[in-house]
Amino acid sequence: VNTETIAGRDAIAAAVQQLLAGNVVAVPTETVYGLAADALNPHAVLKIFETKERPKLNPLIVHLPSTTWLERVAVVPQERLVRQLVERFWPGPLTLVLPRQAMVPDVVTAGLDTVAIRMSAHPLLTDILHAFGQPVAAPSANRSGRISPTTAAHVQEELGSRIPLIVDGGATEHGIESTIVAVRNSRIELLRRGPVTAEQLRDFAEVIESQTTTIEAPGQLPSHYAPNAQLLLVDELQSFTPAAGQRVGGLSFAAVDAPQFAELRTLSSRGDAREAAANLFRCLRELDSAAVDLIVAEQLPEEGLGAAINDRLRRAAAR
Ligand code: AMP
Ligand code: MG
Repeated sequence: VNTETIAGRDAIAAAVQQLLAGNVVAVPTETVYGLAADALNPHAVLKIFETKERPKLNPLIVHLPSTTWLERVAVVPQERLVRQLVERFWPGPLTLVLPRQAMVPDVVTAGLDTVAIRMSAHPLLTDILHAFGQPVAAPSANRSGRISPTTAAHVQEELGSRIPLIVDGGATEHGIESTIVAVRNSRIELLRRGPVTAEQLRDFAEVIESQTTTIEAPGQLPSHYAPNAQLLLVDELQSFTPAAGQRVGGLSFAAVDAPQFAELRTLSSRGDAREAAANLFRCLRELDSAAVDLIVAEQLPEEGLGAAINDRLRRAAAR
C-alpha cells in the first residue's frame, strides 16, 4: 500500500477513519511510536501481528481513552495501590498488568488471563482516542525484534508500504518504551524498566524484579532492539581500541574525545539520562546505517533511567 504521512492535528480525522475501518495506523506516544488498531476488534489486532511479523505469543499493550475504561478491560484487585499509581503516573509512560475482563480479545493478550494497559500523555494520541471512543492495542511501530521508532521517518523505514497512515507528531519525548509493572500481593513487580523508574515506584510499595521465568513481555526477551551490526557493551568508551582496518561506531553517554571511532554518537553531551534515553534509538539507528563492523556502547550508571537504558543496550547486544 501507499503509506501516507500526515503531521499534527490534521492527522486526527484520518487516523480515526483508519481505526474505524479496522486498519492499523502508526501513532506517536510519549515513549516511542506505536502501531495502533481497534483493541476490541480481533481482525484489526491480527493486522498488527502480521504487519510487525510479531510472534502471536507476545501480548500487546492496550491504550485507554480515559481512566473510566480501567474497570471495563481489567479487574482491579489491589484497589488502593493501583489507584495511587494511576493517579500519580497516568496519563504517562507506566503500563499496568492486571487480570483482564472478558471483553478483551484473546489475540490482544496472547491468551493470558492478564491485560497490559496504559493511558498515553501524547496530545495527538489522546485526541485520536477521544474521537475514536474505544481503546486501541499498540505495540512499538517497528518490525519485530528491531529498534523501536522515535520519529515518523523511523516508522517509514520500518513499516513503509505495509501501513496506510503514519501520524507524525515529531520526535517522541522519552525515547524508550513504557515501564511495565504488575501489582501482586500489594507489591510492584517490575516487568520492564522504562521512563518511570524503580526509585519513583518505591514511594508507593515494595518493588521487586520480575520473578517469572516464563516470558511475560518481549521486552524481557534476551535479544531485542537489535541493530544489524554486532553491539559490544563497555564500561568506558575511550579505552576501546579497534583492530587494524576495523570500522567501529562508538556510542557514548556524555561528551567524549574518542577519535578511534569511525562514527561517534553522543547520547547527551551534558551526561543527562533523560536526554540520553530520548536519543538512544535514533543514535543506534544512525550508527547501524553508517555501515560499521561493530558498535561499541558505553553503559550508564545503573540507577534511575540509566538502568532502563542499560537494559535496552544489553538486549541490543545479545544475539
Ligand atoms: P511493545 O510495545 O512492542 O514493547 O510490546 C508491548 C509490551 O507489553 C510487551 O513487552 C508485552 O509483552 C507487554 N505485555 C503486554 N501484555 C502483557 C501481559 N498481559 N503481561 C505481561 N506483559 C505484557
Ligand atoms: Mg516493541
